[in-house]
Amino acid sequence: MKFNIRLWFLIPVIMLTVACAQYGGVRSERGAPQYSADFGGVYHTVEKGQTLWRIAKAYGVELETLQWVNGIEDVTAIPVGRRLFIPGARRVLHVEPYHPGLLKPPSPGVVRIAWPLTATISSGFGLRNGKKHQGIDLPAPVGTPVRAAADGKVVYSGHGMRGYGNVVVLKHADEVSTVYAHNSVILVRMGDRVKKGQIISRVGKTGWATGPHLHFEVRVRGVPENPMAYLPRT
Ligand SMILES: [Zn+2]
Repeated sequence: MKFNIRLWFLIPVIMLTVACAQYGGVRSERGAPQYSADFGGVYHTVEKGQTLWRIAKAYGVELETLQWVNGIEDVTAIPVGRRLFIPGARRVLHVEPYHPGLLKPPSPGVVRIAWPLTATISSGFGLRNGKKHQGIDLPAPVGTPVRAAADGKVVYSGHGMRGYGNVVVLKHADEVSTVYAHNSVILVRMGDRVKKGQIISRVGKTGWATGPHLHFEVRVRGVPENPMAYLPRT
């Protein structure tokens, strides 16, 4: 009898061990943030000719979600052999390689976006101290509401991209996405639909920020563009 009680005690221990082993199977490596606990997914190893855009389409995942979940700053340079975490996928899929000429370039400047908050720009888009600044910096006190620049869908919410701190990424029409970095608080979740002007986060200084500000980016198919080309003049 005593022996049986000990056996029963072992069952939850074994189950817990199995559960941990399963999570371990999709745990990210260096360079890819831990995302499996929230979504589950598989790893896809990039083969020759597979672009991030094609991989995203094959798995039915937004390009920006793949980009930000995997901490990819430059979508045009994904090395062959790189392992990408595909959130939500149940098995590894075959992805057709890219054939030049199939994609028509997106038309920039179509989506009309609004200022995410009112501020005077402290740092513009382009070269800064020899490094490329991918967006504009809008200084504001910690806690200032950050508003969606246009109607869209939350395709990333988290802190997986080095330097960005707590970041929200919204996907809009015409392959345009907007990025809101260094937040103190994030108020939306991945998959949420948001309206232009809706408060999505609050200003902070998480990540690489010397003082509280919003780092704001506009990207077309994941590639940064100058936000000033999209924002109305003040
Ligand atoms: Zn910045």
